[in-house]
Amino acid sequence: METIDRGAGYRALGISDKVLSFTDSILDEISGAFDRVDAIAEYNQTRVIAAMQKNGVNVTHFNPSTGYGNDDQGRETLERVYADCFHAESALVRPQIACGTHALYVALSANLLPGDELLSPVGAPYDTLEEVIGIRPSPVSLAEYGVSYRQVDLLPDGGFDYEGIRAAINEKTKLVTIQRSKGYATRPSLSVAQVGELIAFCKQCKPDVICMVDNCYGEFTETRDPTDVGADMIVGSLIKNPGGGLAVTGGYICGRKDLVDRCAFRLSSPGMGREVGANMGVLPSYYQGLFLAPTVVQSAVKGAIFAAACYERLGFRVIPSWDTPRCDIIQAIELGSRDAMIAFCRGIQSAAPVDSYATPVPSPMAGYDSEIIMAAGAFNQGSSIELSADGPIRPPYAVYFQGGLTWYHAKLGVMMSLQKMMDAGEITL
Ligand SMILES: *Cc1c(COP(=O)(O)O)cnc(C)c1O
Repeated sequence: METIDRGAGYRALGISDKVLSFTDSILDEISGAFDRVDAIAEYNQTRVIAAMQKNGVNVTHFNPSTGYGNDDQGRETLERVYADCFHAESALVRPQIACGTHALYVALSANLLPGDELLSPVGAPYDTLEEVIGIRPSPVSLAEYGVSYRQVDLLPDGGFDYEGIRAAINEKTKLVTIQRSKGYATRPSLSVAQVGELIAFCKQCKPDVICMVDNCYGEFTETRDPTDVGADMIVGSLIKNPGGGLAVTGGYICGRKDLVDRCAFRLSSPGMGREVGANMGVLPSYYQGLFLAPTVVQSAVKGAIFAAACYERLGFRVIPSWDTPRCDIIQAIELGSRDAMIAFCRGIQSAAPVDSYATPVPSPMAGYDSEIIMAAGAFNQGSSIELSADGPIRPPYAVYFQGGLTWYHAKLGVMMSLQKMMDAGEITL
């Protein structure tokens, strides 16, 4: 049989022999780590199919609805599929939720009333939540409506500050928000088991406190989700993991029925709640995206492990290191300078199927405090389950690499980043 020269394809895209031989040697080292990733994807594929079969998904559920969207069977069935898949009582899965930040704002503002306090026991939340909470003043923030906020930072070793958390929980504490993924911070992401320990501790301090998990980027990276370990609500974006790269826009909230019902009243209006909300034809992408999500996440996680191994070998600090079990799809790489961030992002951009000719440049962005650089050549605008890299231009100049609808595209992205870093004199191979 004729041998297949995979290198020829990469050389045609501008990858040098130096990068090819470097990455081949990395792959030899890490291939064992992929077995665990494959097993998780296989398990999660059965989890999704079981939820679809249990709810009798059929082609009529893909029909578009318009106007009020009353009696939308496709939407209602999809929400039951999400609830079953994530082992929750109820779910809200909607294109009217514009993004992850919006989903989090809905969940928080629906369940916190004036005089209540919100606690983050895992340090600073994701950048865009600073304005939601009112840490950075903003019109319509929770602070403006009389909701106070407390934060307990992680210990220097990344562990929970249990004494600090116990001291911070008081009679006003209504809701605890736990961010599973690191976001734009170089702390470790939390495993579902760690999230479970933290929830158990908070409920021991105050049994009726609501525990919400910002689940962005975590879905399907493990065999369980935070709803399996006591979370009252999990919240995320459909242009990240659970949309499988196909969902065109949207967000979800899964959890306790009383809490999710309040979210529906906040999202539409009191009284109407989940009964309204046309699907506008997005449902095929939601169902099929969820079906593909386990294997898409598998590709993204392989890309993250590969990126970690390459940059770790070159002496950069990477979080997590390649051989750490994954609990999200994010790979942070501390590149140490603005120029290195730019070169890295140009590599990711030039590997994209869409907009590969664009040149990423740092710029200000709504909701963020620092300048941001972003590389993305996505079929869905801003989708970060598709291969992308971004980061705030501030020390330690870390890029956050994530996504990849296929492992081979994620691999090419890492190779291109190495090529551009080498061309710019940032690394030598
Ligand atoms: C992406 C993300 C968000 C916000 O989601 P958007 O869809 O960008 O609004 C919130 N929290 C975490 C941890 C995220 O990764």
